[in-house]
Amino acid sequence: MKRLNPYSGLVGGLSADELELLSAAVEERRLREEIGVGTLAEAADRYRPRPACPACGEASPWRDGREPSGVRRWRCPSCGARFTSLTGTVLENCKKPLSTWVSFIRLALFAVPLDACAEACRITHQTAWEWRHRLFAAVDGYQDRIVLRGTVWVDETYINDTDLSRGYGQARKRGLSGQKVCIAVGIDSRKEPVAVACGHGKPSSGRIMEAMGAHVEKGARLVHDRERAHNVLVRELGLEDEPHKADVRDPVYLEAMALVNNLCSWLKRYLWRFTGMDPDNLQSYLNLYVYLFRVKRDDERWPKIARVVRHLLATDARFRSST
Ligand SMILES: [Zn+2]
Repeated sequence: MKRLNPYSGLVGGLSADELELLSAAVEERRLREEIGVGTLAEAADRYRPRPACPACGEASPWRDGREPSGVRRWRCPSCGARFTSLTGTVLENCKKPLSTWVSFIRLALFAVPLDACAEACRITHQTAWEWRHRLFAAVDGYQDRIVLRGTVWVDETYINDTDLSRGYGQARKRGLSGQKVCIAVGIDSRKEPVAVACGHGKPSSGRIMEAMGAHVEKGARLVHDRERAHNVLVRELGLEDEPHKADVRDPVYLEAMALVNNLCSWLKRYLWRFTGMDPDNLQSYLNLYVYLFRVKRDDERWPKIARVVRHLLATDARFRSST
């Protein structure tokens, strides 16, 4: 026998507004249990307990009450600026509740296309687009700090420029490698990934150095196919060289390159989800990919949703609308 839900009657009798409030309260409670904070205000209090003045950098602003949303307001004793705990983060002026953001982050972790995000989060396509760019702003420069060490695998993967902007399988000129966008990819034995857009066509030594030079530790061991442009890394960074002849039928080659080959194919699959992207945003997509790759990799140690929420609040970054 099916048991009646004791709340059915109560819920059935609520007005539309009351139902919204109830469901927001339920969402908040769930979030509090899952990630320790239920609202943007609680998240701001936890991760930005005393934000510096965004105008002059003054480290000890005065408390100045709270917004209707509960987000704390501050006033700067030095320059008089008024701001909130969310000012200077990508969540500034966000009118949706934290629970909607968490749904959006969950979908971003699965690289769900924008239309589906909008539908599932019950936000407009415009908001979903803007939120994706807010995520981009929060991971801008994120890879700058990543340095691969120990044994490092490096390779390049290519995608058609037109695939990015017009969609896969569209008519295009074939065989013109100059038309393809090159992505330099690296990974080390700790599974630290790097992915950097590296211009069009086969890369020169200069482009490889520019893309990867800062991401490989001096003296590391470099495992790679025999791409000549890689030699610049070996020379400039004093790397131990382990070249393999590219041969997909050679099990030794495949095993040596498996990590980086997997990374390349995951990356391609990820980019396929976003056909119609502006190719100018390619590096932002790559930054987000690398960020989410690490978040998923460390999920056992550091639960992923809580980590992303913390990142969005703790990172000084601003979404700027291009219009
Ligand atoms: Zn100030």
